[in-house]
Amino acid sequence: MSLAHDFTGKIAFVTGATSGIGRATALAFAKAGAAVTVADVSEEGNLETARLIEEAGGRVLAVRCDVSEAGDVKAALDRTIRTFGRLDVAFNNAGIEQPMAPVAEIEDKDFDRIVAINLRGLFLCMKHQVPLLLKAGGGAIVNTSSGAGVRGFAGQAAYAATKHGVIGMTRSAALDYAKHGLRINAICPGIVDTPMMQRFTGGTPDGIARVIAQEPVGRMGRPEEIAAAVLYLCSDLAAFTIGHAMVVDGGQTVG
Ligand code: NAD
Repeated sequence: MSLAHDFTGKIAFVTGATSGIGRATALAFAKAGAAVTVADVSEEGNLETARLIEEAGGRVLAVRCDVSEAGDVKAALDRTIRTFGRLDVAFNNAGIEQPMAPVAEIEDKDFDRIVAINLRGLFLCMKHQVPLLLKAGGGAIVNTSSGAGVRGFAGQAAYAATKHGVIGMTRSAALDYAKHGLRINAICPGIVDTPMMQRFTGGTPDGIARVIAQEPVGRMGRPEEIAAAVLYLCSDLAAFTIGHAMVVDGGQTVG
């Protein structure tokens, strides 16, 4: 067993790959030797992530993909197989945030949209990835949950519902395939410095101080710190780790 994260010869598929955690993880996979499909709804962002990967000497396929659309997900995976021949690891990370609002003030359409992307999108990705991973002899999937997947947050009922759901789907799917060499786990980031978090805080010193106050470590996480945990979960070092929701959050949800 290698102690390094070596993904040479492996094919990785990353959603939400044009920003924040997804981009950092796509780059980390590429730097560890994997060829990477970056699948995101933002065409322009895909091209920029692809440019960064190529600049780092990696192989990349950029595909526009709205994870809430079954046809897009299937087409992105089909192109991955046509281009790279197989699939070994998937990081299902695309997600959207919820504006702060108590449950009675959440618009029906906003609830439906966050469920469509954060939950249905994850279901569609796993549904179409699993047969490809099994065909390649197994592999690993990591799904992005959140601190809001393991506890409640006032003003975040819709988001927290989807992120709790990510963990339920991960644990159940992990049991479906545990005997087939396919490991499925989740990652639960704390407050990470990404464009999503900038939107959430409004980018103001007060907004930023308010979220950092939730962090025992006294700072936001960096996307690369989440990427490191995702690579670990996808590596052979985590061969006995199945259905786990790994919290990487500077202590945010400990107390
Ligand atoms: P981000 O907004 O910076 O990036 C999200 C990415 O998802 C973008 O590339 C966006 O284009 C893509 N995306 C959005 N809708 C999509 C769709 N329908 N189909 C495909 N791609 C789509 O966010 P981030 O902070 O990097 O968050 C990434 C994931 O981590 C999300 O699931 C988020 O809920 C989760 N998360 C983030 C934090 C944090 O503090 N930043 C904390 C916990 C969990």
